[in-house]
Amino acid sequence: MTQSVPSPGLTLLLAPASMSLLPHLGIRPRGTSHPEIITMAHKAAAFAAQTGKTPLAPFTIDRREPGPNDVQMEILYCGVCHSDLHAARGEWEFIQFPVVPGHEIVGKVTKVGANVKKFKVGDRSAVGCLVDSCRGCGNCGRGLEQYCEKGMVGTYASPDVHFPGKMTYGGYSKSITVDERFVLRLPDKLDLAASAPLLCAGITTYSPLKHWGATKGKKVGIVGLGGLGHMGVKFAHAFGCQTVLFTTSESKVADGKRLGADEVVISKNEAEMAKHANSFDFILNTVAASHNLDAYTNLLRVDGTLCLVGAPEHPHPSPTVWPLLMKRCSIAGSLIGGLPETQEMLDFCGKHNIVSDIEMIPIQKINESYERMLKSDVRYRFVIDMASLQ
Ligand code: NAP
Ligand code: ZN
Ligand code: ZN
Repeated sequence: MTQSVPSPGLTLLLAPASMSLLPHLGIRPRGTSHPEIITMAHKAAAFAAQTGKTPLAPFTIDRREPGPNDVQMEILYCGVCHSDLHAARGEWEFIQFPVVPGHEIVGKVTKVGANVKKFKVGDRSAVGCLVDSCRGCGNCGRGLEQYCEKGMVGTYASPDVHFPGKMTYGGYSKSITVDERFVLRLPDKLDLAASAPLLCAGITTYSPLKHWGATKGKKVGIVGLGGLGHMGVKFAHAFGCQTVLFTTSESKVADGKRLGADEVVISKNEAEMAKHANSFDFILNTVAASHNLDAYTNLLRVDGTLCLVGAPEHPHPSPTVWPLLMKRCSIAGSLIGGLPETQEMLDFCGKHNIVSDIEMIPIQKINESYERMLKSDVRYRFVIDMASLQ
Protein backbone atom coordinates (compact mmCIF):
# COMPACT_ATOMS: atom_id res chain seq x y z
CA MET A 1 0.00 0.00 0.00
CA THR A 2 1.56 3.26 -1.05
CA GLN A 3 2.40 5.89 1.52
CA SER A 4 2.39 8.68 -1.03
CA VAL A 5 -1.26 9.44 -0.30
CA PRO A 6 -1.33 8.94 3.44
CA SER A 7 -4.92 9.90 4.03
CA PRO A 8 -7.39 10.58 1.30
CA GLY A 9 -9.78 11.71 3.94
CA LEU A 10 -7.59 14.45 5.21
CA THR A 11 -5.59 15.37 2.16
CA LEU A 12 -7.45 18.61 1.71
CA LEU A 13 -7.09 20.10 5.07
CA LEU A 14 -4.21 18.75 7.14
CA ALA A 15 -0.91 20.57 7.26
CA PRO A 16 2.07 18.47 6.07
CA ALA A 17 3.70 18.36 9.49
CA SER A 18 0.61 16.60 10.79
CA MET A 19 0.75 13.89 8.18
CA SER A 20 3.50 11.96 9.94
CA LEU A 21 1.08 11.53 12.83
CA LEU A 22 -1.52 9.81 10.71
CA PRO A 23 -0.35 6.22 11.20
CA HIS A 24 -0.57 6.80 14.97
CA LEU A 25 -4.10 8.02 14.52
CA GLY A 26 -5.00 4.80 12.76
CA ILE A 27 -5.84 6.67 9.59
CA ARG A 28 -5.00 4.78 6.44
CA PRO A 29 -5.63 5.06 2.73
CA ARG A 30 -9.20 4.33 1.86
CA GLY A 31 -9.90 0.91 0.41
CA THR A 32 -12.47 0.12 -2.21
CA SER A 33 -15.48 -0.36 0.03
CA HIS A 34 -17.56 0.70 -2.98
CA PRO A 35 -15.91 -1.56 -5.55
CA GLU A 36 -18.25 -0.65 -8.38
CA ILE A 37 -16.16 1.06 -11.03
CA ILE A 38 -18.18 3.20 -13.37
CA THR A 39 -16.75 3.06 -16.83
CA MET A 40 -19.32 5.29 -18.54
CA ALA A 41 -17.85 8.74 -18.50
CA HIS A 42 -18.08 12.08 -20.20
CA LYS A 43 -15.62 14.95 -20.56
CA ALA A 44 -15.96 18.18 -18.62
CA ALA A 45 -14.03 21.44 -18.87
CA ALA A 46 -12.02 22.36 -15.77
CA PHE A 47 -9.12 24.42 -14.47
CA ALA A 48 -6.18 22.59 -12.90
CA ALA A 49 -2.74 23.13 -11.45
CA GLN A 50 -0.39 20.66 -13.11
CA THR A 51 2.29 21.15 -10.44
CA GLY A 52 2.63 23.25 -7.30
CA LYS A 53 4.70 25.75 -9.29
CA THR A 54 2.44 26.25 -12.30
CA PRO A 55 -0.59 28.56 -12.53
CA LEU A 56 -4.03 27.06 -12.89
CA ALA A 57 -4.96 26.62 -16.55
CA PRO A 58 -7.65 24.93 -18.69
CA PHE A 59 -7.82 21.15 -18.32
CA THR A 60 -10.27 18.46 -19.40
CA ILE A 61 -11.49 15.83 -16.92
CA ASP A 62 -13.61 12.70 -16.97
CA ARG A 63 -16.82 12.68 -14.95
CA ARG A 64 -18.74 9.47 -14.41
CA GLU A 65 -22.24 9.05 -15.76
CA PRO A 66 -24.65 8.86 -12.81
CA GLY A 67 -25.10 5.42 -11.23
CA PRO A 68 -28.40 4.47 -9.53
CA ASN A 69 -27.68 6.54 -6.38
CA ASP A 70 -25.94 9.45 -8.06
CA VAL A 71 -26.86 13.04 -8.72
CA GLN A 72 -25.22 14.82 -11.63
CA MET A 73 -25.14 18.57 -11.38
CA GLU A 74 -24.13 21.48 -13.54
CA ILE A 75 -21.80 23.65 -11.48
CA LEU A 76 -22.93 27.28 -11.69
CA TYR A 77 -20.72 28.82 -8.99
CA CYS A 78 -17.76 27.67 -6.94
CA GLY A 79 -16.23 29.48 -3.96
CA VAL A 80 -12.46 29.93 -3.66
CA CYS A 81 -11.13 28.62 -0.35
CA HIS A 82 -7.62 29.26 0.97
CA SER A 83 -7.32 25.45 1.07
CA ASP A 84 -7.55 25.51 -2.74
CA LEU A 85 -4.53 27.80 -2.76
CA HIS A 86 -2.58 25.64 -0.27
CA ALA A 87 -3.30 22.59 -2.48
CA ALA A 88 -2.71 24.16 -5.89
CA ARG A 89 0.55 25.81 -4.80
CA GLY A 90 1.94 22.55 -3.42
CA GLU A 91 2.00 23.91 0.17
CA TRP A 92 0.65 20.59 1.43
CA GLU A 93 3.27 18.12 0.26
CA PHE A 94 0.91 15.12 0.21
CA ILE A 95 -1.20 16.62 -2.62
CA GLN A 96 -0.84 14.81 -5.95
CA PHE A 97 -1.03 16.72 -9.20
CA PRO A 98 -2.87 17.60 -11.35
CA VAL A 99 -5.25 19.22 -8.87
CA VAL A 100 -8.66 20.62 -9.81
CA PRO A 101 -9.55 22.53 -6.63
CA GLY A 102 -12.98 23.71 -5.48
CA HIS A 103 -15.20 22.43 -2.68
CA GLU A 104 -17.80 25.17 -2.37
CA ILE A 105 -20.00 23.97 -5.19
CA VAL A 106 -23.53 25.07 -6.07
CA GLY A 107 -25.62 24.51 -9.17
CA LYS A 108 -28.53 22.65 -10.70
CA VAL A 109 -29.32 18.97 -10.96
CA THR A 110 -29.04 17.74 -14.56
CA LYS A 111 -29.53 13.94 -14.15
CA VAL A 112 -30.45 11.56 -11.34
CA GLY A 113 -30.03 7.81 -10.92
CA ALA A 114 -33.04 5.50 -10.56
CA ASN A 115 -32.81 5.26 -6.74
CA VAL A 116 -32.37 8.97 -6.03
CA LYS A 117 -35.13 10.33 -3.78
CA LYS A 118 -34.03 13.75 -2.54
CA PHE A 119 -33.44 15.46 -5.90
CA LYS A 120 -35.01 15.84 -9.32
CA VAL A 121 -33.73 17.44 -12.49
CA GLY A 122 -33.71 21.24 -12.19
CA ASP A 123 -33.35 21.36 -8.38
CA ARG A 124 -30.76 23.62 -6.73
CA SER A 125 -28.04 21.51 -5.18
CA ALA A 126 -24.71 21.84 -3.42
CA VAL A 127 -21.57 19.82 -2.70
CA GLY A 128 -19.02 20.66 -0.03
CA CYS A 129 -15.66 19.23 1.00
CA LEU A 130 -16.42 15.52 0.92
CA VAL A 131 -18.02 13.26 -1.67
CA ASP A 132 -17.91 9.88 0.10
CA SER A 133 -16.88 7.99 3.23
CA CYS A 134 -17.05 4.37 4.41
CA ARG A 135 -20.62 4.95 5.75
CA GLY A 136 -20.20 2.06 8.19
CA CYS A 137 -17.87 3.22 10.95
CA GLY A 138 -18.94 4.77 14.24
CA ASN A 139 -18.11 8.30 13.14
CA CYS A 140 -20.02 7.96 9.87
CA GLY A 141 -22.92 6.56 11.90
CA ARG A 142 -22.90 9.72 14.05
CA GLY A 143 -22.96 11.97 10.99
CA LEU A 144 -19.31 12.85 11.45
CA GLU A 145 -18.26 11.65 8.00
CA GLN A 146 -15.38 14.14 7.98
CA TYR A 147 -13.78 12.01 10.70
CA CYS A 148 -14.55 8.66 8.95
CA GLU A 149 -12.29 6.02 10.49
CA LYS A 150 -11.32 4.84 7.01
CA GLY A 151 -10.74 8.36 5.74
CA MET A 152 -13.33 10.51 4.02
CA VAL A 153 -13.14 10.99 0.27
CA GLY A 154 -12.38 14.65 -0.34
CA THR A 155 -14.08 16.48 -3.19
CA TYR A 156 -10.63 16.91 -4.69
CA ALA A 157 -7.23 15.25 -4.29
CA SER A 158 -8.52 11.94 -2.88
CA PRO A 159 -8.08 8.65 -4.75
CA ASP A 160 -11.15 8.15 -6.94
CA VAL A 161 -12.53 4.61 -6.76
CA HIS A 162 -14.52 5.27 -9.92
CA PHE A 163 -11.37 6.05 -11.92
CA PRO A 164 -8.65 3.83 -10.46
CA GLY A 165 -5.26 5.53 -10.39
CA LYS A 166 -6.81 8.99 -10.58
CA MET A 167 -7.70 11.52 -7.93
CA THR A 168 -11.05 13.19 -7.36
CA TYR A 169 -11.48 16.52 -9.13
CA GLY A 170 -13.20 19.49 -7.52
CA GLY A 171 -15.53 22.29 -8.42
CA TYR A 172 -13.41 24.44 -10.76
CA SER A 173 -15.26 22.52 -13.48
CA LYS A 174 -18.54 22.43 -15.37
CA SER A 175 -20.16 19.41 -13.77
CA ILE A 176 -19.84 16.84 -11.00
CA THR A 177 -21.45 13.49 -10.19
CA VAL A 178 -21.89 12.64 -6.50
CA ASP A 179 -23.82 10.05 -4.48
CA GLU A 180 -27.01 11.75 -3.25
CA ARG A 181 -26.04 11.15 0.39
CA PHE A 182 -23.26 13.71 -0.11
CA VAL A 183 -25.37 16.28 -1.98
CA LEU A 184 -27.03 19.08 0.01
CA ARG A 185 -30.24 21.04 -0.41
CA LEU A 186 -30.08 24.84 -0.55
CA PRO A 187 -32.92 26.90 0.90
CA ASP A 188 -34.79 28.58 -1.97
CA LYS A 189 -34.54 32.11 -0.71
CA LEU A 190 -30.74 32.22 -0.49
CA ASP A 191 -28.84 33.77 -3.38
CA LEU A 192 -27.18 30.89 -5.20
CA ALA A 193 -23.71 32.41 -5.77
CA ALA A 194 -23.48 33.87 -2.27
CA SER A 195 -24.44 30.47 -0.81
CA ALA A 196 -21.44 28.67 -2.33
CA PRO A 197 -19.00 29.64 0.47
CA LEU A 198 -21.36 28.18 3.07
CA LEU A 199 -20.26 24.73 1.89
CA CYS A 200 -16.79 25.14 3.42
CA ALA A 201 -16.28 28.55 5.07
CA GLY A 202 -19.79 28.30 6.53
CA ILE A 203 -19.69 24.82 8.00
CA THR A 204 -16.06 25.09 9.15
CA THR A 205 -17.01 27.97 11.43
CA TYR A 206 -20.58 26.91 12.33
CA SER A 207 -19.50 23.46 13.53
CA PRO A 208 -16.88 24.46 16.17
CA LEU A 209 -19.01 27.37 17.40
CA LYS A 210 -21.83 24.89 18.03
CA HIS A 211 -19.56 22.19 19.44
CA TRP A 212 -17.98 24.52 22.02
CA GLY A 213 -21.31 26.02 23.03
CA ALA A 214 -21.06 29.54 21.60
CA THR A 215 -24.36 30.99 22.76
CA LYS A 216 -25.79 34.10 24.37
CA GLY A 217 -23.75 35.14 27.38
CA LYS A 218 -20.48 33.76 25.96
CA LYS A 219 -17.58 35.96 24.88
CA VAL A 220 -16.30 34.66 21.55
CA GLY A 221 -13.32 35.79 19.48
CA ILE A 222 -12.88 35.26 15.76
CA VAL A 223 -9.32 35.63 14.46
CA GLY A 224 -8.83 36.75 10.83
CA LEU A 225 -11.43 38.40 8.61
CA GLY A 226 -11.17 36.31 5.44
CA GLY A 227 -13.54 33.74 3.98
CA LEU A 228 -13.85 31.65 7.13
CA GLY A 229 -13.53 34.53 9.56
CA HIS A 230 -16.34 36.62 8.10
CA MET A 231 -18.69 33.63 8.32
CA GLY A 232 -17.51 33.04 11.90
CA VAL A 233 -18.40 36.63 12.82
CA LYS A 234 -21.85 36.27 11.22
CA PHE A 235 -22.58 33.00 13.05
CA ALA A 236 -21.24 34.11 16.45
CA HIS A 237 -23.40 37.23 16.17
CA ALA A 238 -26.44 35.20 15.08
CA PHE A 239 -25.94 32.84 18.06
CA GLY A 240 -26.13 35.86 20.38
CA CYS A 241 -22.49 35.78 21.56
CA GLN A 242 -20.51 38.83 22.58
CA THR A 243 -18.44 38.77 19.41
CA VAL A 244 -14.94 40.21 19.10
CA LEU A 245 -13.04 40.18 15.80
CA PHE A 246 -9.23 40.11 15.74
CA THR A 247 -7.76 41.39 12.50
CA THR A 248 -4.35 42.47 11.24
CA SER A 249 -6.01 44.82 8.71
CA GLU A 250 -6.98 48.31 9.94
CA SER A 251 -9.04 48.68 6.76
CA LYS A 252 -11.43 45.90 7.86
CA VAL A 253 -12.59 47.45 11.15
CA ALA A 254 -15.81 48.97 9.78
CA ASP A 255 -16.67 45.79 7.87
CA GLY A 256 -16.06 43.70 10.99
CA LYS A 257 -18.71 45.72 12.82
CA ARG A 258 -21.11 45.65 9.87
CA LEU A 259 -20.78 41.86 9.71
CA GLY A 260 -21.75 41.53 13.39
CA ALA A 261 -18.71 42.06 15.64
CA ASP A 262 -19.45 44.01 18.83
CA GLU A 263 -15.80 45.02 18.95
CA VAL A 264 -12.84 44.84 16.57
CA VAL A 265 -9.29 44.53 17.87
CA ILE A 266 -6.17 45.12 15.79
CA SER A 267 -4.18 42.07 16.79
CA LYS A 268 -0.81 43.75 16.23
CA ASN A 269 -1.64 46.32 18.92
CA GLU A 270 -0.44 44.83 22.22
CA ALA A 271 -2.23 47.40 24.38
CA GLU A 272 -5.57 46.65 22.69
CA MET A 273 -4.96 42.91 23.09
CA ALA A 274 -4.04 43.28 26.77
CA LYS A 275 -7.42 44.86 27.53
CA HIS A 276 -9.04 41.48 26.75
CA ALA A 277 -6.68 39.30 28.86
CA ASN A 278 -8.32 36.28 30.55
CA SER A 279 -11.81 37.09 29.28
CA PHE A 280 -12.77 34.76 26.40
CA ASP A 281 -14.81 31.58 26.61
CA PHE A 282 -13.92 30.57 23.08
CA ILE A 283 -11.65 31.84 20.30
CA LEU A 284 -11.90 30.51 16.74
CA ASN A 285 -8.65 31.09 14.86
CA THR A 286 -9.00 31.05 11.05
CA VAL A 287 -5.58 32.45 10.13
CA ALA A 288 -4.00 30.79 7.07
CA ALA A 289 -0.37 31.51 8.11
CA SER A 290 1.91 30.38 10.92
CA HIS A 291 1.83 32.77 13.92
CA ASN A 292 2.28 33.02 17.68
CA LEU A 293 -0.66 31.39 19.48
CA ASP A 294 0.31 32.76 22.92
CA ALA A 295 -1.31 36.05 21.92
CA TYR A 296 -4.65 34.20 22.01
CA THR A 297 -4.20 31.70 24.87
CA ASN A 298 -3.44 34.78 27.01
CA LEU A 299 -6.94 36.00 26.28
CA LEU A 300 -8.78 32.84 27.40
CA ARG A 301 -10.48 32.65 30.77
CA VAL A 302 -10.38 29.52 32.96
CA ASP A 303 -11.62 26.51 30.94
CA GLY A 304 -11.59 28.56 27.73
CA THR A 305 -10.75 27.02 24.35
CA LEU A 306 -8.71 28.26 21.43
CA CYS A 307 -9.85 26.29 18.37
CA LEU A 308 -7.64 26.28 15.28
CA VAL A 309 -9.18 25.80 11.87
CA GLY A 310 -6.44 27.40 9.75
CA ALA A 311 -4.08 24.86 8.13
CA PRO A 312 -0.91 26.85 7.34
CA GLU A 313 1.97 25.54 5.27
CA HIS A 314 4.41 25.91 8.20
CA PRO A 315 3.57 24.90 11.79
CA HIS A 316 2.83 27.51 14.45
CA PRO A 317 5.63 28.09 16.97
CA SER A 318 4.98 25.86 19.98
CA PRO A 319 2.80 27.77 22.46
CA THR A 320 3.93 28.52 26.03
CA VAL A 321 2.38 26.11 28.52
CA TRP A 322 1.75 28.64 31.30
CA PRO A 323 -1.61 30.02 30.16
CA LEU A 324 -2.77 26.42 29.63
CA LEU A 325 -1.65 25.31 33.08
CA MET A 326 -2.78 28.37 34.99
CA LYS A 327 -6.24 28.49 33.41
CA ARG A 328 -6.93 24.85 32.52
CA CYS A 329 -7.55 26.03 28.98
CA SER A 330 -7.33 24.02 25.78
CA ILE A 331 -6.02 24.35 22.26
CA ALA A 332 -8.21 22.35 19.90
CA GLY A 333 -8.85 21.88 16.20
CA SER A 334 -11.86 21.22 14.01
CA LEU A 335 -12.35 19.93 10.47
CA ILE A 336 -15.25 21.17 8.32
CA GLY A 337 -18.49 19.35 9.37
CA GLY A 338 -20.47 16.19 8.62
CA LEU A 339 -23.39 15.95 6.24
CA PRO A 340 -26.26 16.31 8.77
CA GLU A 341 -24.66 19.35 10.40
CA THR A 342 -23.91 20.92 7.01
CA GLN A 343 -27.60 20.59 6.09
CA GLU A 344 -28.54 22.01 9.52
CA MET A 345 -26.21 24.98 8.87
CA LEU A 346 -27.74 25.61 5.42
CA ASP A 347 -31.24 25.50 6.88
CA PHE A 348 -30.15 27.88 9.68
CA CYS A 349 -28.80 30.25 7.01
CA GLY A 350 -32.10 30.01 5.14
CA LYS A 351 -34.03 30.90 8.30
CA HIS A 352 -31.76 33.79 9.27
CA ASN A 353 -30.95 34.96 5.75
CA ILE A 354 -27.22 34.43 6.12
CA VAL A 355 -24.95 34.17 3.07
CA SER A 356 -21.35 35.08 2.31
CA ASP A 357 -20.15 38.51 1.16
CA ILE A 358 -18.68 37.68 -2.22
CA GLU A 359 -16.66 39.08 -5.09
CA MET A 360 -17.56 37.29 -8.30
CA ILE A 361 -14.74 36.47 -10.70
CA PRO A 362 -14.43 34.70 -14.04
CA ILE A 363 -12.28 31.58 -13.81
CA GLN A 364 -9.58 33.29 -15.87
CA LYS A 365 -8.88 35.48 -12.80
CA ILE A 366 -8.27 32.56 -10.45
CA ASN A 367 -4.48 32.98 -10.25
CA GLU A 368 -4.86 36.71 -9.60
CA SER A 369 -7.43 36.00 -6.88
CA TYR A 370 -4.93 33.69 -5.13
CA GLU A 371 -2.38 36.55 -5.11
CA ARG A 372 -4.97 38.86 -3.57
CA MET A 373 -5.91 36.23 -0.98
CA LEU A 374 -2.26 36.07 0.09
CA LYS A 375 -2.34 39.82 0.71
CA SER A 376 -5.51 39.42 2.84
CA ASP A 377 -7.24 41.39 0.09
CA VAL A 378 -10.50 39.46 -0.15
CA ARG A 379 -13.93 40.82 0.83
CA TYR A 380 -14.78 38.25 1.79
CA ARG A 381 -14.88 35.31 -0.57
CA PHE A 382 -14.10 35.03 -4.27
CA VAL A 383 -16.74 33.03 -6.11
CA ILE A 384 -16.14 31.79 -9.64
CA ASP A 385 -18.95 32.32 -12.15
CA MET A 386 -18.68 29.01 -13.96
CA ALA A 387 -20.36 30.46 -17.07
CA SER A 388 -16.90 31.89 -17.77
CA LEU A 389 -15.50 28.35 -18.23
CA GLN A 390 -16.02 27.05 -21.78
P1 NAP B 1 -8.55 33.69 3.71
O1 NAP B 1 -9.85 34.06 3.10
O2 NAP B 1 -7.30 33.93 2.92
O3 NAP B 1 -8.48 34.44 5.12
C1 NAP B 1 -7.42 34.29 6.02
C2 NAP B 1 -7.31 35.57 6.87
O4 NAP B 1 -6.30 35.35 7.87
C3 NAP B 1 -6.84 36.78 6.12
O5 NAP B 1 -7.85 37.46 5.41
C4 NAP B 1 -6.27 37.64 7.24
O6 NAP B 1 -7.32 38.32 7.93
C5 NAP B 1 -5.70 36.61 8.18
N1 NAP B 1 -4.25 36.47 7.98
C6 NAP B 1 -3.60 36.11 6.86
N2 NAP B 1 -2.27 36.07 7.07
C7 NAP B 1 -2.07 36.37 8.35
C8 NAP B 1 -0.93 36.46 9.19
N3 NAP B 1 0.31 36.25 8.70
N4 NAP B 1 -1.11 36.79 10.48
C9 NAP B 1 -2.33 37.03 10.97
N5 NAP B 1 -3.46 36.97 10.22
C10 NAP B 1 -3.33 36.63 8.94
O7 NAP B 1 -8.51 32.14 4.10
P2 NAP B 1 -9.75 31.16 4.43
O8 NAP B 1 -10.29 30.59 3.17
O9 NAP B 1 -10.63 31.83 5.40
O10 NAP B 1 -8.96 29.94 5.14
C11 NAP B 1 -8.25 30.14 6.34
C12 NAP B 1 -7.47 28.91 6.70
O11 NAP B 1 -8.37 27.87 7.09
C13 NAP B 1 -6.62 28.31 5.58
O12 NAP B 1 -5.40 27.84 6.13
C14 NAP B 1 -7.46 27.14 5.09
O13 NAP B 1 -6.71 26.12 4.48
C15 NAP B 1 -8.06 26.66 6.38
N6 NAP B 1 -9.29 25.88 6.27
C16 NAP B 1 -9.49 24.91 7.20
C17 NAP B 1 -10.66 24.19 7.21
C18 NAP B 1 -10.92 23.17 8.27
O14 NAP B 1 -11.81 22.34 8.10
N7 NAP B 1 -10.21 23.21 9.36
C19 NAP B 1 -11.63 24.44 6.22
C20 NAP B 1 -11.39 25.44 5.31
C21 NAP B 1 -10.23 26.18 5.33
P3 NAP B 1 -7.10 39.81 8.53
O15 NAP B 1 -6.82 40.67 7.33
O16 NAP B 1 -8.40 40.08 9.17
O17 NAP B 1 -5.97 39.75 9.50
ZN1 ZN C 1 -12.35 25.01 2.13
ZN1 ZN D 1 -16.62 5.89 8.09
